[in-house]
Amino acid sequence: MKGFADEPNYVIELLDGGSTLEDVIDSHIYEQALAEKNAFVVADIGALMRQHILWQSVMPLVRPFYPVKCNSSPAVIEVLAALGVGFVCTNKAETTLVLSHDVPPENIILAGVCKQLSHIKHAAKNGINYLLCENEAELCKIARAHPNAKLLLQVSTESQAEEASMALGCSLKKCRHLLEMAKELGVQVEGVTFQVPASNKDPQAYTNALSDARCVFDMGEELGFSMKILDMGGGFSGSEFQMRQTHAAIKPLLDAYFPVTSGVQVIAEPGSFYVSSIFTLVVSIIGKKVVARDLCGQPQDELTSNDEPEFMYYMSDGVYGSFVGKLLGNTIPSPSVHKMSMTAEEPVFSSSLWGPSCDMLDQVVEHCLLPELAVGDWLIFNNMGASGQEEPAAFSDPEKPPVYYTISMRDWFEMQKAGISLDNTMKNFSLIHYGM
Ligand SMILES: *Cc1c(COP(=O)(O)O)cnc(C)c1O
Repeated sequence: MKGFADEPNYVIELLDGGSTLEDVIDSHIYEQALAEKNAFVVADIGALMRQHILWQSVMPLVRPFYPVKCNSSPAVIEVLAALGVGFVCTNKAETTLVLSHDVPPENIILAGVCKQLSHIKHAAKNGINYLLCENEAELCKIARAHPNAKLLLQVSTESQAEEASMALGCSLKKCRHLLEMAKELGVQVEGVTFQVPASNKDPQAYTNALSDARCVFDMGEELGFSMKILDMGGGFSGSEFQMRQTHAAIKPLLDAYFPVTSGVQVIAEPGSFYVSSIFTLVVSIIGKKVVARDLCGQPQDELTSNDEPEFMYYMSDGVYGSFVGKLLGNTIPSPSVHKMSMTAEEPVFSSSLWGPSCDMLDQVVEHCLLPELAVGDWLIFNNMGASGQEEPAAFSDPEKPPVYYTISMRDWFEMQKAGISLDNTMKNFSLIHYGM
């Protein structure tokens, strides 16, 4: 959050043509090793902007609202705010953070299946009028605490129901009931929202969700509501291929059900899409064990010449820190080994990667193939931007790894072309030349 006016709070390292992200990682590894530290994050701010450019080129008519819970790093919020992206918040802390970056309240949506009354009141006081709603209890709270609320009704989707843990939204039948109840209570309904989870592989999911949404629009209009907003939620992985595929699936449906001439504004809530690729986590190996397995894979007491060794490595960060996503059911992709620790053509061994807590749950990667590593070697985990990096660690908080922000010269020029500069839109930043 903001400190004193005029005083930049975040430093971004500007990489000239000859330096790469790998160089930045190398130099921080060197520094960290000297300081006896053992984990850090390198954030590529340029990648954030490139994702935005990708979004605008593939789906120019769909306005993005970024869900803050995916990564609430102030640099992420500041850059996205400067790019004109809207925000989806689920609580008062997130709305306060976003408002502190001078985001206009009409660019903020308050989401959450169950919102605390005080958070609804806080939204009302700050002019945040768009609220998601999917059940009667929420509707009653909103009617009581937010006289200017404009609701987006959350409709369930089949693809989502398959993921039991994500059972969000209500059925079409319940939607009619909610609409009638909103009418009685004098609460405005302005649109529909749904979520197709990222794990969904079936383009048909959007066909059903969009036809359901059209159905709720019709019910709402029948009851006299002015239905204006269609929110397609998140679930965009960040790959250009997936995005183009999704767009090809939804384009004809949007044209049929919500044509541009209808005046309906189409929005989406891409989270992972923006941030997944921007954070690279670098951790060091702090401990190591060799487990012997016989030919049938059974653990042995002692390693004999016939057995394949299997290595257990303990890392400086685990599921109670940067890898909290693992506890939430995400798979953590295998890391790469920092090149200084490797010599060419080393044999690889079955390995498992563990956090530092010595807790059974603290297993980050169950199985991967790695060359034999030594204590003090470093591992690099890509695509860690949407893994709850900036969430406060749920349990005993080990020191959070520092985040080093970088941008390449070329990306920085692009950003300035887009109208973003340090003295207007990014007041909290200062740029230094990398290596100076
Ligand atoms: C988490 C979340 C999303 C989706 O994030 P993705 O990473 O894009 O799947 C969208 N909307 C809300 C309200 C969320 O909480």
